[in-house]
Amino acid sequence: MDVLELYRRTGALLEGHFLLRSGLHSPIFLQSAALLQHPLYAEAVGEALGKLFEDEKVDFVIGPALGGVVLSFVVAKALGARALFAEKDGQGGMTLRRGLTVNPGDRFLAVEDVVTTGESVRKAIRAAEARGGVLVGVGAIVDRSGGEADFGVPFRALLKLEVPQYLPEACPLCRDGVPLEEV
Ligand SMILES: [Zn+2]
Repeated sequence: MDVLELYRRTGALLEGHFLLRSGLHSPIFLQSAALLQHPLYAEAVGEALGKLFEDEKVDFVIGPALGGVVLSFVVAKALGARALFAEKDGQGGMTLRRGLTVNPGDRFLAVEDVVTTGESVRKAIRAAEARGGVLVGVGAIVDRSGGEADFGVPFRALLKLEVPQYLPEACPLCRDGVPLEEV
């Protein structure tokens, strides 16, 4: 699967000067919702990502809301597992709501569309672990962490993307006065 072509075709690959959630600046932003709005593409992504973990027995898949809701659903469908999502708890972490439950010992896969620092998927992982879930892997459509993300379990992505990202004080786009877009 040519993931980058899918992002491009659906207008989900943005080029400019972006403030990422991590606080870093980048000339590239992947707006995964624009890709995942197409159910057939979303399902294809879910199947491809699920395939990377087909040897694991997984009871549920979890992603951080909102970005991880659709992805969790399509990967869970591919793996024959339950699809959960974690939501902000108002105290900087995430929690499970809406009757979503974890049975102690449930094995789970955590997913996020794009992993940069992995901070938001880590919050979803902590929410599931707090209910007794056992993390068996982390999956992403795109790994743009440059090999930095480490979750202590297998971390697999459909695409590893080496895109420049800068600390604000070292950003050449800032230096050139290119307007910064918050994403
Ligand atoms: Zn900048």
